[in-house]
Amino acid sequence: MSNIEKTLSIIKPDAVERNLIDEIKKIFLKNDLNIKESKKIHITKDEAAEFYKVHQSKPFYNDLCAYLSSGPIVVMVLEGNNAVAANRKIMGATNPKDADKNTIRKLYGISIDKNSVHGSDSSENAKKEIDFFFKN
Ligand code: UDP
Ligand code: MG
Repeated sequence: MSNIEKTLSIIKPDAVERNLIDEIKKIFLKNDLNIKESKKIHITKDEAAEFYKVHQSKPFYNDLCAYLSSGPIVVMVLEGNNAVAANRKIMGATNPKDADKNTIRKLYGISIDKNSVHGSDSSENAKKEIDFFFKN
């Protein structure tokens, strides 16, 4: 049975800086994730802190927020069958070293922090994250 849903994807500053936007978008399209919305933005550190607030108790939180606001990013709404899980699979593990072959993080990730992409981790968080960037 099909389960068409949406998820939020972000191309992070390290990948935008290396001109990987089109390469990464091609990978989504090839894997049947349609790009319903896409915009290139540069967020403030406070906005990054709000977006990543689930991680506020983590030791890497401050660096993570500084990083996500360090340069332009591309935020996208992807849609497809089981889009949340499908996107996580295409992204690969958080640490590029542990990511499976041909995943975005294996192909392009530099390190555990500069790992090129973000993807929602549940349908519930996908809705919240899409609203965060695309609610008018
Ligand atoms: N992160 C980091 N150090 C860590 C773990 C995570 O810098 O030890 C960063 C990394 O950029 C990651 C983000 O924090 O993508 C969010 O972490 P999460 O565990 O949610 O990983 P993800 O869902 O992005 O795979
Ligand atoms: Mg996460």
